[in-house]
Amino acid sequence: MNVGNILTKKFSNTLSKDVSLSNYSWFNLGGNAEFLFKPNNKDQLIEFIAEAKKNNLKTTILGAGSNTLFRDNGVKGVVIKLGSNFSYTKLINKDTIEVGAATLDRKVANFAKDNSLTNFEFLSCIPGSIGGAVIMNSGCYENEISKILLSIRVIDIRDCKEKELKREDIEFLYRGTNLPKELIIISAKFKGLIEKKEQIEKQQSTMIEKKKISQPSQIKTCGSTFKNINKDKKAWMLIKEAGCNNFKEGDATISKKHCNFFVNNGKASSSDIENLIRKVKEAVYNKTGVNLELEIKIIGE
Ligand SMILES: Cc1cc2nc3c(=O)[nH]c(=O)nc-3n(C[C@H](O)[C@H](O)[C@H](O)COP(=O)(O)OP(=O)(O)OC[C@H]3O[C@@H](n4cnc5c(N)ncnc54)[C@H](O)[C@@H]3O)c2cc1C
Repeated sequence: MNVGNILTKKFSNTLSKDVSLSNYSWFNLGGNAEFLFKPNNKDQLIEFIAEAKKNNLKTTILGAGSNTLFRDNGVKGVVIKLGSNFSYTKLINKDTIEVGAATLDRKVANFAKDNSLTNFEFLSCIPGSIGGAVIMNSGCYENEISKILLSIRVIDIRDCKEKELKREDIEFLYRGTNLPKELIIISAKFKGLIEKKEQIEKQQSTMIEKKKISQPSQIKTCGSTFKNINKDKKAWMLIKEAGCNNFKEGDATISKKHCNFFVNNGKASSSDIENLIRKVKEAVYNKTGVNLELEIKIIGE
């Protein structure tokens, strides 16, 4: 029996072969994952990782796919997407919450609000999961996840052990961290400040409204394609300055509302998006001398 057959037999309810990844990315694009593994719990995850390692299967961890472009030829090895049991919210004490890594950011924002905890409002504007938010150090409106994080629990692929990392052990960067790729975040603890629920609601609504005005919705995108240079020099400004707003490749275009948002209009391929990225990067460099850095992650063959 080959490796695939052995693994699909052993993890029959949680492992699938040749799964289209387009349903797992906000771009709605990408080829197949050789395997897709959706563990129901921590023990299953650890057991599977040990098997994958033994069989030299490459592993890729995925959150809600709101920052990930999968290439047209898919992903070799196993894409791991934490199952629904990794989506939960728990009040630990009056100002501290624990959430599963697969929990959507907006659910965490609402849970914090329901428990009169402030500083989580910005999470209602970010469409990803908590695992992705920590890895990306996601944020908006002067907030970012590192400011409220206390600790994360991870499974380390290198030794198949569960570990806890405190916020102080992690270096947070603008839209990134120094966490090694081999760590799968399974949960996180956050600390907020006690505040009146009405005040939190007001703050949350203001942010959501602000987002609605400045960013497109109901489109196939992964949000900001490139990182901003700094607070005053945003990627969209450079894209506009270089006259790229109307660039297109196949059915991949640039949002009219926010020119750092690249869009699959329905018939684009992942290569169209990547070609558009290359074209814009080159035009911006030629016009401004700035080498734009990708914010979105591109994965696959
Ligand atoms: C419309 C729109 C608006 C957006 N607005 C913002 C914004 O305002 N601010 C902002 O910062 N971002 C924004 N984004 C980008 C995106 O939502 C964030 O980067 C988000 O935090 C990604 O989370 P995810 O779960 O979707 O990650 P994914 O895209 O699934 O993965 C992103 C990275 O995280 C890793 N990862 C995911 N889960 C885990 C885990 N459990 N353990 C280890 N690694 C993991 C992946 O391997 C990958 O490297 C926006 C995106 C869209 C589509």
